[in-house]
Amino acid sequence: MRAKDSIEEKIFVYSEIFQAERGLYNQLLRDMSVHQEPKDMSRTDHNSCPCCKSLQISYSFSLPYFKVHKFKWGTSEENYRRIVKKEHQGAVFDVVSCRECRAFFVKETYKDLVSYVESHPIYRSETIRHWFDQSHFLVTEDVCRRIAVNETLSPVEARYRQHLNRVTPLLKQESRFMDVGANVGTFAALLAAQRPHTVVHACETNPAFLVEGQTRYPHLIWVDEPLTNRAKLEPFDVLYVSHVIEHIWDLDGFVEALLAHLRPDGYLMVATPDGDHPSAKRDGTDWWAYIVPHHCQVLTLLSLDRLMVRHGLQRIDHATEGEEFWALYQPTPNTAS
Ligand SMILES: [Zn+2]
Repeated sequence: MRAKDSIEEKIFVYSEIFQAERGLYNQLLRDMSVHQEPKDMSRTDHNSCPCCKSLQISYSFSLPYFKVHKFKWGTSEENYRRIVKKEHQGAVFDVVSCRECRAFFVKETYKDLVSYVESHPIYRSETIRHWFDQSHFLVTEDVCRRIAVNETLSPVEARYRQHLNRVTPLLKQESRFMDVGANVGTFAALLAAQRPHTVVHACETNPAFLVEGQTRYPHLIWVDEPLTNRAKLEPFDVLYVSHVIEHIWDLDGFVEALLAHLRPDGYLMVATPDGDHPSAKRDGTDWWAYIVPHHCQVLTLLSLDRLMVRHGLQRIDHATEGEEFWALYQPTPNTAS
């Protein structure tokens, strides 16, 4: 595995990738200092739908490990080969569909494989060049002003604006907000700029994203541990979970952890690729969201509803935008008393 190689050798590899861009050397040293080895590579599998628990599941298709040739934002196939152990390179993952809620999910995977790959400096070095520059642009005063006045916006900026428009009215003075899976903190920073009195937290467990986010936006409150059902933090008024849930293997554990951090009258907003979008059928296994095992599942609005209802949440709003949807949930009031 490359992680065991010497620092000099790694720097050589990154130098090739970055083509000696400015500031590269320090960036690479920082990346490597936070890189973590995989803890557990044992296998784990689902016997029922992770969203609705139905046993009505059937084999749908198989995909090779990280279908990277169509994934323009990711790292190159060559880089994956550098990162991943030989034994995983030829791995094929079965994708199963649920007849009840139409979710697609990976049947079996290796426990820490994805977090290992995603926190690998090579993976990140490629992503940051292509994807970060577009999706995770630096939040400057000028960007905030343009988004606030709805000047001509790029599609990515327009999407952030739509989400801000739905979230900011939910926040009162001194409200507590957390972006769960905040990446480098782009949305959290935009929100903090619009709502200076909101207590904005950004939770990110990928060490490379975390370091980058803390450097970019030191004014945010960064949470560097995964949430668990034993909340260490005061509960939040709004939890924002964008393009995270499709990566989560243990969905029940994740939703329980979210609930432990949500006020009884709080809001949970989830955005994720839309498994019911026509592109999913049209493009089949070439559809961008079917990247396994990086996406453990692709949900439909129905599958997200079924998951949330099982945990006592009710949907109060939703919208489909492009090839994703977002949905807003609240804990169902306890009518027993
Ligand atoms: Zn299901």
